[in-house]
Amino acid sequence: MNQKRLQWFFDLAKAQARRSDVKYFHHGAVLARKSKIIETGFNHYVSNHDSCYIEYSALHAERDVIEKALKRGCALRGATIYVVRVNKRGQLRNSKPCQECAKLILEHGIRRVFYSISETDALKQEIVSLEDVPRVCKDKY
Ligand SMILES: [Zn+2]
Repeated sequence: MNQKRLQWFFDLAKAQARRSDVKYFHHGAVLARKSKIIETGFNHYVSNHDSCYIEYSALHAERDVIEKALKRGCALRGATIYVVRVNKRGQLRNSKPCQECAKLILEHGIRRVFYSISETDALKQEIVSLEDVPRVCKDKY
């Protein structure tokens, strides 16, 4: 993939992150196949209705984009996902998918993950494998 195309997907994921309503970190994600966009998503709050309480938790951007694509019947096998995380000041931060999202990515046969690292080291590419799945899933979203 050429650098220009990569940057374009990355910028699109960043634009998605700006739509997030989650308090501390805004994540954006783009699913693509070659140069075509499959779906876009971002982390946001969802309500879980219990019998007496409504609890709000954040749906991760990776899950949001994958679920949206699946609802439309898109095939995800062999696709690429771009994930970006920005803080409140708009600075890029590490957006390596958490354990749950990494599992989801693997389950659907998504082959490559590009994620932001920091403002200075903007982008890292990873081929997802089970060994790379982070051990701890911290709720930083
Ligand atoms: Zn996650």
